[in-house]
Amino acid sequence: MPTIRLKDAEKRYGGTAVKAVSNLNLEIGDGEFMCLLGPSGCGKTTTLRMISGLEHLSQGQITIGDRVVDCVSSGTFVTAEKRGMGLVFQSYALWPHMTIERNTDFGLRLRKVPKAEREARVEKVMKTLGIAQYRDRYPSQLSGGQQQRVALARMLAVNPDVLLLDEPLSNLDARLRLEMRAELKRLHEAFKTTIVFVTHDQWEAMTLATSIAVMSDGELQQVGTPNDIYERPANRFVAEFVGSPPINIIEMTDQSSGPLAGLARAYFSKFYPQLKSIGSVGMRPEAIGFVRDAGAVPEGSLSGRASVTGVLPTGGSWIIELVAEGSKLFLTTHQPPAVSDGAEGLFHVPPEALHVFDDKGDRDWV
Ligand code: ATP
Repeated sequence: MPTIRLKDAEKRYGGTAVKAVSNLNLEIGDGEFMCLLGPSGCGKTTTLRMISGLEHLSQGQITIGDRVVDCVSSGTFVTAEKRGMGLVFQSYALWPHMTIERNTDFGLRLRKVPKAEREARVEKVMKTLGIAQYRDRYPSQLSGGQQQRVALARMLAVNPDVLLLDEPLSNLDARLRLEMRAELKRLHEAFKTTIVFVTHDQWEAMTLATSIAVMSDGELQQVGTPNDIYERPANRFVAEFVGSPPINIIEMTDQSSGPLAGLARAYFSKFYPQLKSIGSVGMRPEAIGFVRDAGAVPEGSLSGRASVTGVLPTGGSWIIELVAEGSKLFLTTHQPPAVSDGAEGLFHVPPEALHVFDDKGDRDWV
């Protein structure tokens, strides 16, 4: 499957001035598992629908390889049926009067695929998705999660070049959701299908994607591997949207923004004087350490006095609440903490774990 390219893509619904998606430039390569991630209303579904051909662009163009499928200036528009993509939405519609097997081979019959090939393909996807034993049942006799798998199987059986999935796991309970994620990942590896997957769930995106596109207010914020997004967020929005517990932020713009900002300011002017107009500094909870003795603080760290104000077990890991120079910081640890409420000591963060943002919120770090 050739690369899908959105160029300066924009969508305004019903001729309104409000842009559901604006100025979107995005490339989805062959075999990629791309997650569109962002809060409710940020334009994820609109983007998916534009790629599928269910929505016309208001501006810009979409190409698949060399083929222009939507271009506002030339008036080109290729319909959804002719784009060769499979779509599974949050609400999946199975045919209630057809057995699971008939539901699964529905698309193949429609395409008049010969019987022997049809049976072989249906068998393979039903086995992969673990629904072969339900072949003679009707959708009403299956659980929601099993029905969801049938919807996916029906899509995969026709072997689309691109699979477009809009929150397809949102109705499942936590355990099934996890199982289905693992299954989707296996499917992606087995079928090498290009997948575009819409989710507002950062963990879902982090666990599934080869590449994540983070969106906010109709605009693309960052595209990168899950690791890039987490370790090198392009701006404050991405830094704060991804990560749980959320990243700790020290506000630095306002001269009166508290003693912790003062401490950070002194640290940066000593070690990194080239950094001007720092707006804020982010520190992931797992990057913060706490020690009782100043001698144990690693050289070159951002560090200051802190006291423990809470130790919260979360099952296998702990969140420790600290107060440092009057500000709250949260750190996480997988080791049973050797401290309790009221312990006095020092927090420290290594320089490579400091996320520095400028006064516009963009990443500012060499
Ligand atoms: P969610 O996670 O809640 O589904 P989303 O990120 O998928 O949200 P979209 O559904 O793409 O977001 O919506 C983007 C913006 O466009 C929202 O402000 C939404 O209200 C608006 N919008 C979506 N569909 C329409 C429509 N058919 N007519 C008018 N406005 C729409």
